[in-house]
Amino acid sequence: MLRSRRRTPRVLAAAVASGALTLSAAPAASFAVSSGSKPGARTTAERVAPYTTKTPISRGTGGAVTTVDPEATRVGLRVLERGGNAVDAAVAAAAALGVTEPFSAGIGGGGYFVHYNARTGKIRTIDGRETAPESMPRTAFQDGNGATRPFDDLVTSGVSIGVPGTLATWEAAADRWGTRSLAKLLRPAARLAERGFVVDETYALQTEENQPRFEAFTTTPEVFLPGGEVPAVGSLFRNPDLARTYRQIARRGAGWFYGGALGREITAVVQSPPKNPETTLPVPAGYMRPRDLAEYEVIFRKPTRVSYRGYEVYGMRPSSSGGTTVGEALNILETFDLSEMSVVDALHHYLEASALAFADRAEHLGDPAYTPVPVRRLLSQEFADERACELDPDEAATKPVLPGDIRTADGTCDLARGAGAIPRSDTEGRETTNLTVADRWGNVVEYTLTIEATGGSGLAVPGRGFLLNNELTDFSTTWVADDPNRLEGGKRPRSSMSPTIVLRGGEPFLALGSPGGSTIITTVLQTIVNRIDLGMGLRRAVAAPRATQGNVTDVTAEQAFVDRFGGPLGALGHTFVVGEAGTSAEDIGALTAIEFRGRNRLVAAAEPTRRGGGSALVVNDR
Ligand code: GLU
Repeated sequence: MLRSRRRTPRVLAAAVASGALTLSAAPAASFAVSSGSKPGARTTAERVAPYTTKTPISRGTGGAVTTVDPEATRVGLRVLERGGNAVDAAVAAAAALGVTEPFSAGIGGGGYFVHYNARTGKIRTIDGRETAPESMPRTAFQDGNGATRPFDDLVTSGVSIGVPGTLATWEAAADRWGTRSLAKLLRPAARLAERGFVVDETYALQTEENQPRFEAFTTTPEVFLPGGEVPAVGSLFRNPDLARTYRQIARRGAGWFYGGALGREITAVVQSPPKNPETTLPVPAGYMRPRDLAEYEVIFRKPTRVSYRGYEVYGMRPSSSGGTTVGEALNILETFDLSEMSVVDALHHYLEASALAFADRAEHLGDPAYTPVPVRRLLSQEFADERACELDPDEAATKPVLPGDIRTADGTCDLARGAGAIPRSDTEGRETTNLTVADRWGNVVEYTLTIEATGGSGLAVPGRGFLLNNELTDFSTTWVADDPNRLEGGKRPRSSMSPTIVLRGGEPFLALGSPGGSTIITTVLQTIVNRIDLGMGLRRAVAAPRATQGNVTDVTAEQAFVDRFGGPLGALGHTFVVGEAGTSAEDIGALTAIEFRGRNRLVAAAEPTRRGGGSALVVNDR
């Protein structure tokens, strides 16, 4: 679907047309593209939008914000500096990510919000996942002949668009735990959308990869391909439509979206996508009605919880598979002493435990309102003990491995397996975004939000400056009766998002999360293992090369991982595939994390290089 060739980043051309400033300056020095300007000189774009510096790690006190984007991190930090709490900062930063990461997140999508309340010591979560429209038939993914449409045709469509939950999440979080109104929290992002941000290589690459899909619609190029072009690296990108949308929401409330005029605009384009007559993509229409939006509700849920080597690990319950899959894998790993092993052996155990947990995920995980999900049993140590019996310390199992028999699990090595397991493929995107926030009072937010594929459905709401998700392709696209993730009207598609908060002695120790579709689970898991078992500091734990085993034949890995561990892990039977260099599939994840040290000290971390690097800042530098 996506073009994956990386072109030489364009130097700043003349103009970023509609809605953007026309600038004549050279590109930003920090993007290392040829220019006539003096090294270090600030371009016109940078003078307008000064926050381009990526700071992957910061230490200090008073609170912290870490996201993939320097502008969004700044927005969150300023809220903290002005006395807002972690929830206020998280909502404001998320709204800013809707501006600077519009292909990963925004009010056209959904997500999961995890909150640690310092006053009560409790962790609670918000499930802001998209839902399938009520009237969506189980045949919705089929063409007129009853054949399942090709996956890519479903992505760029109206039919994959779920009822968005992001704005409702912001409103619910701000109302329940915040100290500022949603209206106030949207203001900095509205200003950012208006004044613009400096286009970096990642943004230009993501636009370029999506160009054919965006051009399938008449509405999307107007916003994201100004003048018909991919915006140049170093240019200023403005989104005045989104600025206006945020301001209108601030004035009219989220009801304008959920049940109001904006909602009707959304359902109109879902039901009748504004298709470019020249596109060769089929762009099937969707089912969302105004009523689906009016009836949408976020769900406050208790978190999942497992104990792991003296830590308590809290995650997201179904409809996400994040908490149960990370938790089960940790329970399996806890039966082995990884810290006594060589790194290669520890990684072998990590990959094998992931595969086992993914087998059980495929068997049991779906929206709990539609399918019983045995969360307690999946997270029981007896079940994990039994699953651990299947992990051969000296040899990789042939994949896919079968799920365990959850009904008979008693912790003994009788190798009971679930019957009739159908390994189901994962087709989730590799995008999304994640943020981590802590405030001076000790409250913590871990929040993952998405529009699914990079660029979501590719469909921008006319004149409103944001894209709609394609989250419904997270359902199995072929309908099978006993599949817990089969498509049904009103249901939430299974997610992998894994915002996670780790406590020690009831106090926050680590908060972390990542984008990356089903690799989110393994990125969070591998980083916990790096930090807790392999003795890495947070910076190294985040930067370390990644690999992911979702119970498929080959381990997907970063090139650096294969270079370092491919030989010895290959000798244990693991085989590897690497995402294509120079594409957005090259990296696995884009994690953010905060570690809590004694005396209110924090270490905030973002990626040093993945997705161009992120930005982690603390209120008071040490
Ligand atoms: N849709 C995916 C999920 O909910 C996330 C997509 C991504 O990370 O790119 O797990």
